[in-house]
Amino acid sequence: MTKSKPPPGMPGGLSLLQDPVLNKGTAFTEHERDALGLRGLLPPRAFTQDEQVARALENFHRQHDDLEKYVFMTALHDRNETLFYRMVIDHIEEMMPIIYTPTVGEACEAYGHIYRRPRGVYVSAEDRGRVAEVLGNWPQKHVRVIVVTDGSRILGLGDLGANGMGIPVGKLSLYTACAGIPPAQCLPVTLDVGTNNEALLDDPLYIGLPQTRLQGADYDDLVDEFVQAVRKRYPDVLLQFEDFSNGNAFPLLRKYRDVLCCFNDDIQGTASVVLAGLHSALRIRGGALRDQMILFLGAGEAGVGIADLVVSGMVEEGLTPDAARSRCWFVDSRGLVVKSRRDLEEHKIPYAHDHAPAPDLRGAVEAVRPTVLVGASGQPGMFTQAIVEDMARLNDRPILFALSNPTSMAECTAEQAYVWTGGRAVFASGSPFAPVTYAGRTFVSGQANNAYVFPGIGLGVLASRASKVTDEMFMAAAVALAGLASEHDLEQGRIFPALSSIRSASATIARAVAEIAYEQGLAREKRPDDLSAWIQSLIYEPHYADYAEKRPARAF
Ligand code: NAD
Repeated sequence: MTKSKPPPGMPGGLSLLQDPVLNKGTAFTEHERDALGLRGLLPPRAFTQDEQVARALENFHRQHDDLEKYVFMTALHDRNETLFYRMVIDHIEEMMPIIYTPTVGEACEAYGHIYRRPRGVYVSAEDRGRVAEVLGNWPQKHVRVIVVTDGSRILGLGDLGANGMGIPVGKLSLYTACAGIPPAQCLPVTLDVGTNNEALLDDPLYIGLPQTRLQGADYDDLVDEFVQAVRKRYPDVLLQFEDFSNGNAFPLLRKYRDVLCCFNDDIQGTASVVLAGLHSALRIRGGALRDQMILFLGAGEAGVGIADLVVSGMVEEGLTPDAARSRCWFVDSRGLVVKSRRDLEEHKIPYAHDHAPAPDLRGAVEAVRPTVLVGASGQPGMFTQAIVEDMARLNDRPILFALSNPTSMAECTAEQAYVWTGGRAVFASGSPFAPVTYAGRTFVSGQANNAYVFPGIGLGVLASRASKVTDEMFMAAAVALAGLASEHDLEQGRIFPALSSIRSASATIARAVAEIAYEQGLAREKRPDDLSAWIQSLIYEPHYADYAEKRPARAF
């Protein structure tokens, strides 16, 4: 037996088994067990990673419901990060709805009750004046992506306060799983500015500050102190704002988008994936983006974000900004968004057209005669049979996107879209629907999942070290993604590629985004001779290192 001595600086024995980044569990080899002081601390038989995945999967399937599966995966993440990512990557279609939507929503609601170990950084209202110090407690010095929420609008679930941490954690897991951003470069952050959710304030196990939300200057100052601390400690970082209520999301984006490398996924990521869907839908139907009339139900982050990017896309195709905006119309909870209304928030004003009011969606469809109907209202069933039939009367191939999540909130179902249009709809939704068989044909609808784009955009930004994230990058990501739907996908009605190919899709998107960074002079990384090879070289693969042969790359 070789003497049990870990390589210098590396923990051995139990400490190694308790370090989730270095731990290989039962996959430590005979040689490593001797070299690292592990002999006797593990069951004698060594397993391969594939065998470990098989065991973990068996246990995963034994859980009784999705929340238990979420807790199981969280525990695996805390125990053996490499195995966690192997399992997520190899079974992405099954894992994504557990580690992210819809289950992550349920997990956030119950966060204080299922809480076991911390992950990420909490910056609280009590940290005013010492945010840099708090951020300095995070041990990793080379963070490249931060996802931050203030928990004020978690998915469609509203204000979940500090429980919102599940969202940055989940999103960053997708950055790693879908685009290979190394986990050590990812940092989830929650700004705990309080919560106005009475149920949480009354919950003795709630993990956040039991106080109401900071408002006005107090809120702005804390966010600003955080942003400045981030810029100082991590000057190369990409900061993603996530699940802020729209009263804060739009102003924060306006304030910071030209100051540092940041974006808001609810606004801009959604816009990019939906624009990709439109490009693909037009591959099926023919016609140019600039010729579409688009009616949005819901004028919030998703709707207005999509419209802003569609306008940029139409301008690229030769329209003036005014002409492009005149092709985007909105219905909100008070009817058609028109100039004469006095109740419009700032983000709706560019789309308030000079037109008579229309009280409801059906009236608006009649008035606008849209070629595309986009639902982003969070209100289920709003695309009624009459409205969908109107769309089918106005268009040979009506494009219907019912984006509201979760599935129960969709403006109409896939089946309704196909049946009510006699199989002519090009349909996509925010949450997945099962394939629909109608009149002897099987339709597979598209899922406009933001995970198709934000990880690839992040990888492209990292690869080029872009100093900003621009509309042109979101447009390029959309075009790249649309190009990845195969003819076979389109024949079935599926306007996005299969999720199983997401890692290669992310690499393609990353390349398109990095190209824009170089074109726009925003790249701080010297252009490599072979951009694709450079991007590929950055991608994390969840393979175990051979510790007995060489010291792991991680700095201790
Ligand atoms: P938001 O709160 O910012 O906006 C919602 C908008 O809907 C508001 O303008 C509100 O006035 C409007 N609205 C509410 N009730 C209405 C009614 N009865 N009729 C018409 N309009 C009404 O929310 P958001 O971030 O824009 O998200 C909206 C929906 O889009 C959510 O359900 C979300 O799940 C979904 N979404 C989907 C994707 C995706 O598919 N990739 C991405 C982001 C958001």
